[in-house]
Amino acid sequence: MVAQVIDGYGREITYLRVSVTDRCNFRCVYCMPEEGVPPKPHASILRYEEITRIARLAVSLGVQSIRVTGGEPLVRKGITSLVNALAGLKSAGLRDLSMTTNGSLLAPVASDLAAAGLDRVNISLDTLRMDRFVRITRGGDLGRVLEGAGAALAAGLTPVKLNVVVTRDNVDEILDFGFLAMSTGLIVRFIELMPLGHAGVMQPGAYVSTERMKDLLGQSGSLTEVNPAGLGSGPARYYAWAPHQGVAPSPGAHDAAQVVTHKVLSHRDAGAPALVGFITAISSHFCPGCNRLRLTADGRLAPCLWSPEEIDIGTVLRSGALDEEIVRVLRSAVAAKPLEYTASDGISRRRMSRLGG
Ligand code: SAM
Ligand code: SF4
Repeated sequence: MVAQVIDGYGREITYLRVSVTDRCNFRCVYCMPEEGVPPKPHASILRYEEITRIARLAVSLGVQSIRVTGGEPLVRKGITSLVNALAGLKSAGLRDLSMTTNGSLLAPVASDLAAAGLDRVNISLDTLRMDRFVRITRGGDLGRVLEGAGAALAAGLTPVKLNVVVTRDNVDEILDFGFLAMSTGLIVRFIELMPLGHAGVMQPGAYVSTERMKDLLGQSGSLTEVNPAGLGSGPARYYAWAPHQGVAPSPGAHDAAQVVTHKVLSHRDAGAPALVGFITAISSHFCPGCNRLRLTADGRLAPCLWSPEEIDIGTVLRSGALDEEIVRVLRSAVAAKPLEYTASDGISRRRMSRLGG
């Protein structure tokens, strides 16, 4: 019989997000303060064997998907060896091993990660304009991220999804992202800005709703809801988008697509529609379908992105606990999942860089 763990509201928990570091080489304006966040002491950060043990026990309870995230997971040394160890859990029931990354360090390691057993990557990228990219990430290099996306496609870390947090500052690039998806095969997911972490520094009115995003795409092309199989364990809704005749990308979007595809051997049908997704974090609750737990780099289980509650599994693990005790902690985190949150509480001080998104 396949193991199953169900929370107090009947939701089956099948997905674990593992933040492997709270450090990052970017300082995205909505995520971190300019000076960064004080790093957790090295000794408090879970070692790879510790993460793998928790993951193994989570899989024994019915977790089928694991996502490695951060901070920026690729800044942590030896990450390929963690991926390799986690991929070993496929024989125990793990079906999907993925990573969320800012993509800046991905190009040189994409094929190693694929060889180690990583199935796919999500890359966060909010703009295709160089000057904007520098401003949003506070110093990042757009070309390296585009190279990273191309390397991921070439390494077969597919489907490669681009996560785009849409705000008033980049909403004018929605069509360009649609064109990028069309010409590269990247799946672009538009995400509503959440009032978490450092989002409070954004200008009032920075938030753009999914409805507005869909209107913009719908006015310039056909947007049809689709239900593609096997697109992961998250709350995104997917659509096919094809531009109306005469609607064209900006030159920057065309150049970005060239960088992404220049090492990719298989070519897409020129007329194939883009696959785009929307993550309506704010305008429509996805709590009823929540299937996840989060593990922070310093060994806390977070039952919910919004609730401040955390359960210290790291200390239990380091006290020499038996597997059964660790399983009990995992179960207690599942039991602590609230039914839903309300964003009306305003900005939560919880950090996305700590919780891994
Ligand atoms: N550094 C990696 C990256 O950027 O992909 C992984 C960690 S990052 C915290 C995970 C995701 O959280 C990114 O896609 C980022 O855009 C998103 N994120 C961070 N703060 C956010 C906010 N306030 N609202 C919506 N998404 C946010
Ligand atoms: Fe770093 Fe990701 Fe946060 Fe940007 S969103 S600062 S890349 S952790």
